[in-house]
Amino acid sequence: MMNKLMLPDYQIRQRDFLLEISRAITAQLDLSEVLKRVLHASIIMLAGRSGLIALRADDTIFYVRAIINIPTELVPKLNEHLYELSLTLAQKNTIENFNQHLRSISTAIDDNLQQAVAMPLIFAGEPLGMMIVFRSYQSEASPNDMQILQSFADQAAIAVHNAQLYERIETERRKLAAILEYGADGMMILEPDLTIARFNRALERMTAWRADEAIGLSQDEVIQWEKREGMDIQTALDNGWANQHAQGDESPLYLEGELRRKDGLTVSVGITYAPLINADGKLTNIIAHIRDITNFKRAQEMQNTFISVVSHELKTPVAIIKGYAATLSRPDAQWDKKTIRDNLGVIEEEADRLNGLIQNLLTASKLQAQGQLSLTKTEVWLDELATVAVERFTSQTTKHKFKLKFQSPYPTIHADETRLRQVIDNLLSNAVKYSPEGGVIEVGGYATPTTATFYVRDSGVGLSEEDQQRIFDRFYRVDSKLSSKTQGSGLGLYLSKAIVSAHGGTIEVKSAPSRGSTFFVHLPRS
Ligand code: ADP
Repeated sequence: MMNKLMLPDYQIRQRDFLLEISRAITAQLDLSEVLKRVLHASIIMLAGRSGLIALRADDTIFYVRAIINIPTELVPKLNEHLYELSLTLAQKNTIENFNQHLRSISTAIDDNLQQAVAMPLIFAGEPLGMMIVFRSYQSEASPNDMQILQSFADQAAIAVHNAQLYERIETERRKLAAILEYGADGMMILEPDLTIARFNRALERMTAWRADEAIGLSQDEVIQWEKREGMDIQTALDNGWANQHAQGDESPLYLEGELRRKDGLTVSVGITYAPLINADGKLTNIIAHIRDITNFKRAQEMQNTFISVVSHELKTPVAIIKGYAATLSRPDAQWDKKTIRDNLGVIEEEADRLNGLIQNLLTASKLQAQGQLSLTKTEVWLDELATVAVERFTSQTTKHKFKLKFQSPYPTIHADETRLRQVIDNLLSNAVKYSPEGGVIEVGGYATPTTATFYVRDSGVGLSEEDQQRIFDRFYRVDSKLSSKTQGSGLGLYLSKAIVSAHGGTIEVKSAPSRGSTFFVHLPRS
């Protein structure tokens, strides 16, 4: 009380204003509002007419951020002057130059303004902006005036600094949220008790759980393993995994296996867990990063199948050729002409088969590298190609009866004849191979004004829905007793599909287990 009485009036007002400003800052009012209050207090204390606060942007140029008693439409003009002023500051020009720009600014606002008092907003040695109060009379700004303005400017600098920090944190937060939300991999954030706190979109797609269903549940309710390799997170935590992290051992926890999705399907995933430890060494969250490794697993499986299938497929004809050649070349044996001819016939047949397989492998690797097959197109009579192929196959099997059923007349198409012959041969060879009991194999065709279709129908072992989805994949062979006994590389249908696609056509299968299969090839007529 005593103090207050002894303070001169302007000091009491100054103190009251400072209090009000610092309250506004601690109440986390919006920056514009705090700047307005600072400016208002400064104008009153300096008996000014008007004022502005300009802040320095990233390009080090000042822009008007708050105005009092200055028409808004003047702001672009003032910004131009501030630009000049920024250059003066950057070049460390003389004070006269700076004052001259200040004068231009006050004249731009009002001719009657006599004086401009400017004060930099500085925080931790960093210039953040500037406050200018305009007076309508000329009077030397007293040290006291400057001190008042300085104390307000310091407050404004704190508010600006806080706002910048907040903005930086907010930008970082938004960046992290976007990485989390839109990243291609699944991510979730867990509480220390393994409750799910965040669950991103990729993880929704991977697990068929919606984020709003998963959040709040324990991760064990959502991450349900069908099969798993590696230590689960709960056991790891019980074994002091988080403490080891706090002590600097930053090895993440990785486990992989088959996850049961909410819809009952399974997906192969690899999950990496990393703990978030605070400054006191306490576990605050666990970040889980989930990667769908289905394709990787498939590729691995395919690679293994490829090696075993191809080595088997290559070895068999080579062994036969070697056996027959060795027999024929035995120095102690005398072979009659027929035996020699028959044996050479087998050698030639096996060499052709070897050649066919090598051709297929080359085409497949070319396709893999280039993505598309090149075609040499001519006029093609598909019905005739099929008739010739059927004749050839008829001589190779006695168990099967072939039936040709092409609509007459059947249109010619513009296509690659060699490649289409490969498709027909492959479909016919499969029809024979996968109907070991024999039966009828029908090859037919029909056309619409835009499409020419041909099909190969057998009454063999047929295909399950699941296998129908995969038989056109590279190296895929149905896992069955029959296919393990039957020669094949799993390339035939893959290449057939590539050839048909290169023509702009489609290939499809209609089948059911033990009910035979029909493969349809639809080709565009023009
Ligand atoms: P393969 O060289 O093994 O015959 P394909 O790519 O031609 O390779 O066929 C892939 C798989 O599709 C075969 O291994 C077989 O299991 C199945 N398949 C193909 N055609 C038929 C068919 N007509 N009937 C039943 N299964 C078939």
